[in-house]
Amino acid sequence: MLRAGRQGARLSDKVFDLLVIGGGINGCGIAADAAGRGLNVALVEAGDLAGGTSSASSKLIHGGLRYLEQYEFRLVREALAERETLLAKAPHVVWPMRFVLPHVDGMRPAWMLRAGLFLYDHLAARRTLGGSHRLVLERDQAGRPLSPSLKTGFSYWDCWVDDARLVVLNAIAAREAGASVRTRMPVTALKVEAGLWTARLGDGGEVAARAVVNAAGPWAEAVARLALGPRNAPSPKLRLVKGSHIVVPRVSGAEDAYIFQTRDGRVVFALPFEERFTLIGTTDVAFDGDPRDAEASAPEIDYLLGVANAMFATPVSRGDIVWTFAGVRPLDDDGSEVASAVSRDYRLDLDTGAGAPLLHVIGGKITTYRRLAEHALDLLAPTFPNMGRAFTASAPLPGGDLGGQTFDVWFGALCRGHPGFERATLHRLARRYGARITHIVGDAKSEADLGADLGGGLTAREIAYLKAEEWAVTPDDVLWRRTKAGLHVAPERRGAAVDAISQALGRG
Ligand code: FAD
Repeated sequence: MLRAGRQGARLSDKVFDLLVIGGGINGCGIAADAAGRGLNVALVEAGDLAGGTSSASSKLIHGGLRYLEQYEFRLVREALAERETLLAKAPHVVWPMRFVLPHVDGMRPAWMLRAGLFLYDHLAARRTLGGSHRLVLERDQAGRPLSPSLKTGFSYWDCWVDDARLVVLNAIAAREAGASVRTRMPVTALKVEAGLWTARLGDGGEVAARAVVNAAGPWAEAVARLALGPRNAPSPKLRLVKGSHIVVPRVSGAEDAYIFQTRDGRVVFALPFEERFTLIGTTDVAFDGDPRDAEASAPEIDYLLGVANAMFATPVSRGDIVWTFAGVRPLDDDGSEVASAVSRDYRLDLDTGAGAPLLHVIGGKITTYRRLAEHALDLLAPTFPNMGRAFTASAPLPGGDLGGQTFDVWFGALCRGHPGFERATLHRLARRYGARITHIVGDAKSEADLGADLGGGLTAREIAYLKAEEWAVTPDDVLWRRTKAGLHVAPERRGAAVDAISQALGRG
């Protein structure tokens, strides 16, 4: 059943317990947790859900092997444990991925890699993910795409996530628990009156709440300034660090994920992406502009190509690049000199000085969003003594309840039940929507029943679902965030696809 708009009652009609500013992973994660515990929640997002940093990540649910070198044991332990939790909550958008770490002469010695991986294997309990192993690349399949100079290495397991979909699933979970979620609705002013926060919104309306969470990611300082007014309270201090990625056709034979050491002491990933592409990233570049303008610069692209070409046997060139994207990390400024060394851990600052609580979220990885939300609600508990208990560790995200089966077993049954569909089509939809695939496939007996291919395999029926249930408004929302169908449309057909999708969204 599709309900167009899904905007519900006006936000000014009631006083909310909690107003969450920012519809990235941290805002949506907090909104889902708070609404599920019985709080009355409003979430407002200035643009599209995941339109900020949360759709521009490397898309890994990972402990962060590199962070061990920076002694970030708290973060790594929490992140490692979250891999298993998120795999179980959302097996359609999170899945295990094997990583290959080549040993390179003159870089970290093999004993150091082995020691790091030993810690990685043992810092948190593993139920389904495998442990690390030594590889002889000359003999192992994983060595095939690599330069013959790389002789040995290690393998270990982390997880892949569709970052933008994880955000939307949390927004749906929040809405289904009663939250009001508004996109394209910036907060433009914030003040406290009679113990309540009042936020002015971009459409001139207002929303009142007993507490506010500032989850504006790289814009968190700007949102804090809206609330401070003449008050001289401590406000979040962010270190903005841009990271860019390039996407090329799948590097021949590169079916595993690779983690390459770089001459400047960093690591760069080369990841299997969207069936037939390789995603290469990322960079660490100090950033001081508007995060919305972040894009991959020529030197960053050269750097990523340089790393790929030092490691892969087949050359990758500028002409191979089919897509680039960049995002800005909103890091907690710990004073580190080098951008790549700034801590990736998060901080939550509770400001009660204005007469009502305002919680600032600083940093926070996709991987740790669920624990960050729990910690945020711990801090708000004194304001909401009747709030329910933490529940998200075991609650499936929308579409993630596969009846206790693994994704593969569940998908096999889905294919048998839909003989009129190509396996590839069902797989694409199953990965996007999990058990909620029925909302799109419905009673269709064959692909033709879903409607014409408007671009990248998108049909009018899927777009209607995205509009009614997932806050999709523009072609970009559909092509690059709710799905990555944009990658599957040839450049010369993109204009036509945008027109067709606009029309399907009712914008034509
Ligand atoms: P955002 O996603 O930026 O969300 C903030 C939102 O607030 C935005 O949508 C913005 O529009 C909104 N907003 C701003 N101002 C207002 C306002 N006034 N009113 C209303 N809304 C407002 N993490 C991992 O776990 N794994 C990875 O592999 C990984 N790779 C990364 C690679 C790169 C290159 C980068 C940059 C980050 C990576 N991260 C990774 C980190 C992770 O992506 C971010 O830390 C996370 O997405 C931050 O989410 P957020 O919700 O805090 O911010």
